[in-house]
Amino acid sequence: THFGFRTVAKSDKAEMVADVFHSVAAKYDLMNDLMSFGIHRIWKRFTIDCSGVRRGQRVLDLAGGTGDLTAKFSRLVGETGEVVLADINSSMLKVGREKLRNSGIIGNVKYVQANAEALPFPDNHFDCITIAFGLRNVTEKEKALASMFRVLKPGGRLLVLEFSKPVLAPLSKAYDAYSFHILPRIGELVAKDSESYRYLAESIRMHPDQDTLKQMMEDVGFENTTYHNLTGGIVALHRGFKF
Ligand code: SAM
Repeated sequence: THFGFRTVAKSDKAEMVADVFHSVAAKYDLMNDLMSFGIHRIWKRFTIDCSGVRRGQRVLDLAGGTGDLTAKFSRLVGETGEVVLADINSSMLKVGREKLRNSGIIGNVKYVQANAEALPFPDNHFDCITIAFGLRNVTEKEKALASMFRVLKPGGRLLVLEFSKPVLAPLSKAYDAYSFHILPRIGELVAKDSESYRYLAESIRMHPDQDTLKQMMEDVGFENTTYHNLTGGIVALHRGFKF
C-alpha cells in the first residue's frame, strides 16, 4: 500500500497517523536514536532548558508519546508539581507509561489519552505546554493551537519542538535525500516498516516553515512569539506566551 499522503482526506489522515504510531510504538525510541544519530536528545534538552519550569508547576507534555520530556519535567516539578502526558495513541501511551514506571517515575505523572484538537482540561490550567514532534501529525493544527491556548494559564508558555525548514540550500538537499531514501530503509531494516517512515519524510516536508508556524501561533492569541533554529533549521523550537 502507499499512503498517497498529499491527497488523502482529513479523516483519513487521522486514521493513517493512528496506524503509523500503533505500528512504530514498540521500536519508537530505538528508531529515534538511530535516525537522528541521538541528536533528538539534545533538541529535547534544549526544550527543557527553555521551558522555565520550576518546582510545584503543572506541565502538559502533549503528543508526549514515550515520555522523554515528561521524565525530565517530572524531576523538575518535584512532588508538589504535576506532569500530564497526553497522547491520542494508546500504543504510544502504553510504551511511555511502562518506560517511565520502570525508571521509577511515579507519583507526579498522569497519563491521558486525548486529541490535541479538543483537550479535555479546564481553562487556564497549565503553567507550560510542550508538543514535541507532535503538531506535524495533527490534522487541524489551528484548532489544536487554540485548544492549547485555552488550557494555558495567563503567563504560561507553549513550546513547539518540530521539524522545520533547513536554512541552507545544500543542507536542505542532503536532508531531503536522507529522509526520502535512507530513512525508509532504516525503517525497513529495524522496524520492518518502510511505509511509516515514508510518511514521516512526507509529513516533515509538508509541515509549515518557521515563519508560518509563528504566524499560526499569533493567530490564535500567543504573544512574544519567537523561534530558535536547531541543527541548521532541520528542527525549530517555537515559544509563545499567553498573557
Ligand atoms: N513527543 C514524543 C517525542 O518527542 O519523542 C513523541 C513524538 S511522536 C513523533 C508523535 C506523537 O504524536 C505520537 O505519539 C502520536 O500518537 C501523537 N499524536 C498524533 N496526533 C495526535 C493528536 N491529534 N493528538 C495528540 N497526540 C497526537
